[in-house]
Amino acid sequence: MITTCLRLASMVFLLTAATLANAETLLIHAGELLSVPGERPKSRQTIVVEGERIVDVVDGYAEPSAYGNDARVIDLSDRFVLPGLMDMHVHLQGELGPRNEKERLKMSSQLMQMRSAHFAMKTLLAGFTTVRDVGSSGEEMYALRDAINKAWIDGPRIIAAGGVGITGGHADISGVKPELMELWTDDSICDGPYDCRRATRNAIKYGADLIKITSTGGVLTDRATGTGQQMEMDELREVVQAAARMGRKVASHAHEEDGIIAALEAGVASIEHGTYTGPRAIKLFKETGAYLVPTLLAGKTVGAMAVEADFMSDAVKEKAIRVGRDMAGNFAKAHAAGVNVAYGTDSGVSPHGTNAEEALLMVEAGMTEMEVLVAATINAADLIDMSDSIGTIEDGKFADIIAVDRSPLDDIAELLEVGFVMKGGKVYKD
Ligand SMILES: [Zn+2]
Repeated sequence: MITTCLRLASMVFLLTAATLANAETLLIHAGELLSVPGERPKSRQTIVVEGERIVDVVDGYAEPSAYGNDARVIDLSDRFVLPGLMDMHVHLQGELGPRNEKERLKMSSQLMQMRSAHFAMKTLLAGFTTVRDVGSSGEEMYALRDAINKAWIDGPRIIAAGGVGITGGHADISGVKPELMELWTDDSICDGPYDCRRATRNAIKYGADLIKITSTGGVLTDRATGTGQQMEMDELREVVQAAARMGRKVASHAHEEDGIIAALEAGVASIEHGTYTGPRAIKLFKETGAYLVPTLLAGKTVGAMAVEADFMSDAVKEKAIRVGRDMAGNFAKAHAAGVNVAYGTDSGVSPHGTNAEEALLMVEAGMTEMEVLVAATINAADLIDMSDSIGTIEDGKFADIIAVDRSPLDDIAELLEVGFVMKGGKVYKD
């Protein structure tokens, strides 16, 4: 017994020593630094990083000698440095395309999991250091999230949703023969408030960081069931309440305004897509403070695929063309009216790693470059309740830092070419 304790004690000592030895001080010399999006960038700054955290930001280029023998300089004096970007709407488990049906039949869940890790890495290397995955089969995404957090594999921080959806709704299986539908119907599918209460609790039990619901129909559901409200008010309220009791927020996919309004009235924290946000929904957004996660890139992608590709059914095509056409215009009005916006792409509909293309579409829809950066950092961090640890480059936060050649405040397209990526003090790209 005593020997075991001693052994444990010495292991703890060795681990502590190893951790300390690894916590070298890094001095990032930033030519231009946007430490807090929304405020003016500053020239010639030094970010001091110890281990996985930022410990200081100082004026001028600090000399390593002032920080002990181990300090090392990362020279970004010719770059524009900003906080790591965050995408609040990704699907790391797949990528829309003509091979999806074959993959569904032929790809093992193990291989799919390896591919998710590959997509996660593409996302990180594009400068997105945190993502919210809102629609993969739960357990695999929780495992990927946990493996990344344990530093067993590399990838962005993942906030993973557990899905709750209704029979025949957007989250349910569609487009395959009945025998396969029966086999692939997930136990997250529920009907009526009590059943949806069970499904919500069940998702949290297995590891969901938040609950994702689909209050309206969706484009990629292979049935002509529209894009209007599908979940009933009692189901929506029940999911939000059951989630809140266990400290979880709810995100709702929604296209038509009836479903946006119903979800906001039930108390969701964010509306995903929000294609037909009109004056009544805008009023509710502003009253509740909920975020709109616009996914303009998804609208553009499915709209283009419906015309150019030939793998979509007629039911899907009709919705894709309509939503693709209407999304950006309505978003422009919602933004102009002052709705809170958090950055989100629906990557997985668009190819992983192209997440920054959303920023260009947001600017086209009338946001300033600075507003886009705020949506992709400070607002996103607020939506996932992580403002204390990410979203800005400040003392005490995780060292999630990226750099581009020139200021994205002059040209947002700079975000397409992120040249330096650090997450939690580790450099992934330079
Ligand atoms: Zn989505």
